[in-house]
Formats: sequence, structure tokens, C-alpha cells
Amino acid sequence: MSQSRDKSGGLKLIEIEGGPRTHSGHRGLDHEEPLIFEQGAPESTGVDLPEVGDFTDRLGGLARQGPTGLPGLSEPEVVRHFVRISRDNHAIDMAMYPLGSCTMKHNPRLNEKVARLAGLAEVHPLQPPETAQGALELIDTLAHWLITLTGMPAVAMSPAAGAHGELCGMMCIRAALDARGESRQVVLVPESAHGTNPATAAMCGYRVEAIAADPRGRVDVAALAERLGPDVAGVMLTNPNTCGLFESDIVEIARLVHAAGGYFYCDGANFNAIMGRVRPGDLGIDCMHINLHKTFSTPHGGGGPGSGPVVLSEALAPFAPRPYVIREGDGFRLVESEHDPADDGRAFGRLKGFHGQMGMFIRALTYMMSHGADGLRQAAEDAVLNANYVRAGLEDVMSLPFPGPCMHEVLFDDASLKDTGVTTLDLAKAMIDEGVHPMTMYFPLVVHGAMLIEPTDSESKASLDEFIALMRGLMADAAAGDVDRFEGAPFHAPRRRLDETRAARQPVLRWRPPAPAEAAE
Ligand SMILES: *Cc1c(COP(=O)(O)O)cnc(C)c1O
Repeated sequence: MSQSRDKSGGLKLIEIEGGPRTHSGHRGLDHEEPLIFEQGAPESTGVDLPEVGDFTDRLGGLARQGPTGLPGLSEPEVVRHFVRISRDNHAIDMAMYPLGSCTMKHNPRLNEKVARLAGLAEVHPLQPPETAQGALELIDTLAHWLITLTGMPAVAMSPAAGAHGELCGMMCIRAALDARGESRQVVLVPESAHGTNPATAAMCGYRVEAIAADPRGRVDVAALAERLGPDVAGVMLTNPNTCGLFESDIVEIARLVHAAGGYFYCDGANFNAIMGRVRPGDLGIDCMHINLHKTFSTPHGGGGPGSGPVVLSEALAPFAPRPYVIREGDGFRLVESEHDPADDGRAFGRLKGFHGQMGMFIRALTYMMSHGADGLRQAAEDAVLNANYVRAGLEDVMSLPFPGPCMHEVLFDDASLKDTGVTTLDLAKAMIDEGVHPMTMYFPLVVHGAMLIEPTDSESKASLDEFIALMRGLMADAAAGDVDRFEGAPFHAPRRRLDETRAARQPVLRWRPPAPAEAAE
């Protein structure tokens, strides 16, 4: 097992299974990297500055009371630190990342190049609008194409992620119901919906009730129809759903929800499977978020900054949050408050400090413009083709709960691992040893031991063939009873298998300085 450096900054011998101990504490070029706070020292510095006199008296109450405790390191030490920890992580730039529902597709370098153009990279949200006309026009143009692709009348651009978009959409629904003088309490969420859907509804104060999936992995329409009523604010449905299937009764679902006086939220995170083929506006939905970091290839980041614009129907558009961009005369401006003559006072408020993630807007628009309408449609078709290629390549050795073609992701269950002693988790860990990121596992909950694989449109046939071959190899090892190969996996990663329960229940999320006695040692 690996050991990190000891407190004094010295190195410990490191045990490596199946190999000699190392003196450095590193494993070849795989460096065992301490936290940056455990390196350097507060008194050292990366730059030499001339001595300054004592001017504490001029700082008054703002003078620092004690040392900051920030470690001092030289520039090369800092660069090495971040490069080393970056190598402990998987990345879409390194190998396949078939994490279902997450759409880990390639981030084209053209997007990055455009986002770095000085006039775009350095624009500031507090600049006077007359000096930021190009940026406002860019937001307006992106909004135009989102509206065009979805066939919806309006879009709110400010949400910073998919789940944030859901929050925005549900707040619009709440505001619309308030305006009607109704206080409906329940939101219905099918079992085939993404986990953020019930979480969002609950965050907005609604009582969430689940609607069963039918044997085809789609919403049980009869169960939905039965539950709809005057207490139901709306339905949140994911389409394509988390089984990788198109909700084929969606038009009927929209009709039923509207007939019962509710609103229809459609989670459009998987728009990458249908863009250019289906316009959600034609299906009768009231709002839908789009994850620019999925469909339009912007980087996912470490939890942000993402971008999740929400398209809205006529009924919900007036309640969209401020600020928003409008055209006026030859130019563009932002409507920031209810005192603006262009605003009718119905917006539910403000969702975020400024008007959205500019860097993501630039990348998404670049992606759209470099693909064109035909290219976007082809990206969706290729995403679906690739998932079906993986399905066809594995369906004789893995088990499909819902046979037949899928959309952009293919769902397997663990029936094919039955009696092998190997679980979905073991299989996922063994995939790390094979150099790919595991698929999404144990989600969706509607099937046992779920494995949800989303190759995305950006994988070549060669990389899909390699993936299929390694998965077939693992399934053959499992069938042959080679449990050791799985139980200890991963063997070849920077860390061996973690205690996932402890990681979730007792996460260590911040570094604390050692207690004074220990520090003095
Ligand atoms: C990714 C995803 C979300 C959440 O989006 P974030 O940007 O991660 O907040 C919601 N629904 C579905 C179906 C998704 O795939």
C-alpha cells in the first residue's frame, strides 16, 4: 500500500504489491503527492521582493493579526504539484469516459481558442453595457439558436448547471402557480427520471411522489393519469430517460398534465441524443434545461462553472429570472430590475450574481457554429449509433433489461454476473485497471446492479472496438471464476479500492493545520 510523506517532509518507504519498495515514496513516474499545505513553509516565498518598511499603523484595523499560514513555494514547485495531482485523475483527454448520463464528450480545441480571444476572455460582467455589445450579442445569438433547436419561445440563460436550471424551471412553475392564486403541493417524478429531478422539486418545497416505470423502462402512463389532480403542480420527466430510452408517450403525457392544470418539466440534459431530430417545443413541454457541458461540448469542470440554460413555454416565460438581454435600437442591453420600463415585474427574481457563464456561452456557440445544423444533427445521430454499437457488441455477454435499440446510452443490469461472485462495483473497479473510466453504476435504480454506458459521439470506431474487447475480456474472466482479478481491483491506479461508505459518510473536505504541540515536534 502506498504511504505519503511523513510530517517532517521526509519520505517513507513505500510498499508496492508485486514489486520492490521504493526509497523515494514514489512509484515510478506516478508520484505520491502531498497536499500543497503540507509542502513548502509559510516563511518561504516564490518571489524576491524588496524589503518594505513597517506601515502597519497606516492599515489601522485592517492590519493582519497573525501569519496567513499559506505555504510558500517556488513557481516550479507549484507547477509540479498541480501537474502531478492532475495525473491522479482520469480525463476525457486521456481515454474513454463512458459515464452514463454525464455525456463526457471531447471538448474541441477550437472552442478553447475562441474563448481565449482577448476581447472575449477579458470581458467583465460589471463593464458598462455600451462597452460589451459584442458579448451581449453573443448571448443573444446563443439564445436564438437554443430557441431554434428546441422550438421553444424563450430561454433563461443564467443558470450555472443542469440542476441549477431545474431549480430555475421549478421556480418559474411556482411563480406561475402563485400568479394563478393556486398552491399545488405535489410534483410527480417518474422512476426513470434523473435523481436531480426529485431533489429539485423537494428543494422548491414540493412533496415528491414517484410514478412507476412500465416493463418497457418508460413512464407508466396509466399510473400517471390516475395520480394527476388539482394538488399536482407538475411532472418532471427526463427524456431520453435514464434507461437510455425515448419516452415514446411524451405527447400524451404533456396533454394529461395540462388537462389536470399542471406544468410539464422535461429534463433535457440528454438533448445531445435528439438535437436536430426532435424539437421539444413540438412535444408540449413547458420548460427544459439544456446542459451546455453535455450537449454542446463545454468542459464539465470540477463541478463548475457549468451552464444550464432553460427553455420556457409562453406560459412560463414571463416568470424567468433577471437579468436578461434585450435588443434595443441597434444594440443590446440588460434588464436588471423591476424598475426597468422593459420589465413587467413578473420575474421570480434573480438566480445568480450576473447573467450566466460567459466562457461556456462562447464555447457552446463556437460548437454550434462550427457544426452547423447538419453537423449538430449528425452529432446526435452518432451518439445514438455509438451507444447501439456498444450494445450490439456486448449484448451476448452482458444482460440488457430492455432489449432493443437504445438512444445515446445503453443500460445493462447485473444478471449476467449472477453466481460469478463478481458485482457491478467489482467490474467497474477492474475497468480502471484497463485504462478507462467506469460506466455509471447502480443508477438508474429501476434495474438491479445497473451499468449505464454512454460512449458519446466523439469516440471513433477503433476506440469503441477496444472498449468492447476489454469489456468482453472482463466478462469472460468473471464467467471463468477469476474473482481475485476483480475483488482487489483497481491494482494499477494511484489508489487501491476506497471505502466508499466512509468516503460518503465521513468525507474529509478541508485541510486543518496540525495542532500546535504536533507542529512543534
Ligand atoms: C447531468 C444531468 C443532470 C444534472 O446536471 P448538472 O449540470 O450536473 O447539474 C440532470 N439531469 C440529467 C438527466 C443529467 O444527465
